[in-house]
Parts: sequence; C-alpha cells; structure tokens
Amino acid sequence: MNAPATLHTRLVDAMPAALIRLFARPYVAGDHLGAAITVAQRLLRGSGLVATLDLLAEEVSSEELVRANLATYLEMVRAVAAEEAFRAPRDRPSLSVKLSSFTLAPLDRGGDGKGCREAVETIALEAKRLGVPLTIDMEDRHWTDFTLEIAIDLAKRGFDVGTVLQTRLHRTEADLARIPEGMRVRMVIGIYLEPADVALTEKPAMKERLIAQSARLLDRGVYVELASHDEAVVRRFLREVVMPRSLGGERYEVQMLYGVPRADLLCEILAGRLTPPDRMAPLCRLYVPFATAWDQATAYCRRRLRNNPSMATYVLLNLLQALRGRNAGIAQYEEAMARLRKSSPNPPRH
Ligand SMILES: Cc1cc2nc3c(=O)[nH]c(=O)nc-3n(C[C@H](O)[C@H](O)[C@H](O)COP(=O)(O)OP(=O)(O)OC[C@H]3O[C@@H](n4cnc5c(N)ncnc54)[C@H](O)[C@@H]3O)c2cc1C
Repeated sequence: MNAPATLHTRLVDAMPAALIRLFARPYVAGDHLGAAITVAQRLLRGSGLVATLDLLAEEVSSEELVRANLATYLEMVRAVAAEEAFRAPRDRPSLSVKLSSFTLAPLDRGGDGKGCREAVETIALEAKRLGVPLTIDMEDRHWTDFTLEIAIDLAKRGFDVGTVLQTRLHRTEADLARIPEGMRVRMVIGIYLEPADVALTEKPAMKERLIAQSARLLDRGVYVELASHDEAVVRRFLREVVMPRSLGGERYEVQMLYGVPRADLLCEILAGRLTPPDRMAPLCRLYVPFATAWDQATAYCRRRLRNNPSMATYVLLNLLQALRGRNAGIAQYEEAMARLRKSSPNPPRH
C-alpha cells in the first residue's frame, strides 16, 4: 500500500490542468475569498452547517507567496468577524491553516520550517482579537512534532487554536497524552501515506483507532472533532462513544469535506436523530477550501491525487455524480435539509 505508485504518479502528472480543475471543482469554493464566504453563508442559512475555511496554499516557492498567504489569512479572519451571519459563536467559521504555507524551508524536504511559527502566531493574535477559531492542519510525519508543539503552546497560552491527530501514526497513542484539557482536536485517519515502521497501512485498523482514540480524548476533557466520510465509522462513534457517555454538542463535532456526498447523514446528525435526545446536537462542519488562483487549486488537487491513489477513485466517482446532476455543490445540502424537514415534525436542533 505504501510503495510509490509510479504509473499512477506519472498518469496524474500527465493530466492537463483543465482536467484536474474539473476534478477539483466539487470540493473548492472558488478562486477568491468572497466565494468561500458565500459558500459558508449558504451552508449555514440553507442547512445549519458551519464551515472551516482553508486557503489552498501548499506550493510555496517565494517570499512573496509566503507574505501573500499570511495577508490572505489575516483578511480571512477579518472577513469572518465582519460577517453579520456569523455573529453567534457557534455559527462562526473557523480557519484551517497549514504551516507549510509560510515557509521556504518545509520540514518534509529537510528544512527547519523557518517563519511558520511567527506567521501562525500573527494569525492567532488577530483571530483572538476578533474571536475567530483557528485549527492547524496536520501534514505528513515530518511535521507532527513541530505542529503539535506550536498548537499546544498557543492553546495553553489561551488562544482558541486546535490541531489534528492522525490515527494511522503509531506515535499518536503517546501524543494523546500531550493534549491539554479543553483543547480542540480534529481526529482523522490521515491523508498522507506513511511507511509501515511508523504507521498502520490498513484503513480498517486506522478507523478502529479513530473511534478508540477519540473516546480517550473525550474522557480526558478534550473537544473532539471527528472527521471522516465513512458513514459506518461516524455512526459507530455516535452510538458507541457519544451515546453511552450522554455527551452534548458542546463536547464534540463532526466534520467532512465540502463536496463529499454525505449530506443526508449530516442532516440526520444535525436533527439530533443519532445523538442523545436530551442533549444539544453537535455542530457539523464542512471543510471549505478556496484558492486565490485556480493554479493553486489544481496544484493542491494534483498533489492529493498523486499522494493518495485511492483518492483518485473517490474523486472520479464524485465527479460522475456531479455531472449527472447529483451532489452539485451547495444544492446537495439544501436538498437534504429540505427532505429532512419534510419527513420530520421536529426541525433540526442547531
Ligand atoms: C474536515 C477534514 C479535515 C481533514 N484534515 C486533515 C488533516 O489536517 N491532515 C490529514 O492528514 N488528513 C486530514 N483529513 C483527511 C483524512 O485524514 C482522511 O484522509 C479522509 O477523511 C479520508 O478518510 P475517511 O475516514 O473519510 O475514510 P475513507 O475510507 O477514505 O473514506 C470513506 C468513504 O468516503 C468517500 N470519500 C472519501 N473521500 C472522498 C472524496 N475526496 N471524494 C468523494 N468521496 C470520498 C468514499 O466513498 C470512501 O469510501 C481531513 C478530512 C476531513 C474530512
């Protein structure tokens, strides 16, 4: 599973940008911040879904781009804070940020991550001033220590900063203990294929850990953001972890990527049908990426397809659905919520 997929890699590299852009379309809000804000507003208004906004900015090749990425994140903080629709804290989008957006010395290429800490601290200060939550995404294993160190330090200093743990990594078992009570942690299996000496290589085992480790974090008072599109895993988390502990939506949330067709499940959760009846339903948050130019979005999508061959199948199937008129952008969420409202006497308890 972890051997380099040479033919696959060459195929992805040979794909014309226009084709990659077509693949990226269902997942990317657009090529400017306004498009992402509009998607976040419509998701909230039409379906009660909240967003986390992400600037696609992983391929950083100049100081100018580093400065531009920082400026865009500051603009994102201000745009979210200024928007009337996001006034209530539970409705407010968070921002997702990758440390590699702010350095010309990425750790996965032997660098020391120079500039990352300062950039994220600048964003965190502005985010704190304006009440916008921040999450530091997790990149491959070279970034784990560095990311946890920065995120935990900021959280301990009173910033509303969360991060991500990848259950495929063996080290995560020990990292759970480093997370302070009350911090936000997104739990994922991890998108980066890692070598077998440091990580699991089979998805079912990663998903067992996703449930078990999420439970451990919750038991330690950490706010867990379960991020998975595996419907069975999400249902098991709710049935086996949330229900027995009678947890309310102030303790955890469910996250998915914008564009992955899981709208009916999300609406069911929002309506409180899968969570303790006497407790607040959790937030359901969609990860909404945007770019400042389409070549950034296509670079992101190409990298994901290259790094994770199974992603190519999902993306292709999703695209076919979109072309057949199903799962088209925001409409799928609005339609799912309309179906739910029709079938349910109780409106969603968002
Ligand atoms: C909100 C969010 C934030 C994330 N942040 C990070 C991060 O910071 N670091 C990191 O390493 N990983 C991150 N991930 C990715 C995560 O680690 C997994 O790689 C990804 O979610 C796939 O795992 P899964 O649990 O959904 O299971 P899978 O078995 O991969 O997916 C379950 C099913 O969902 C469908 N599906 C999954 N992905 C797609 C897709 N793109 N298009 C269409 N259908 C799809 C398929 O039908 C698939 O069978 C994030 C994921 C989400 C949802």
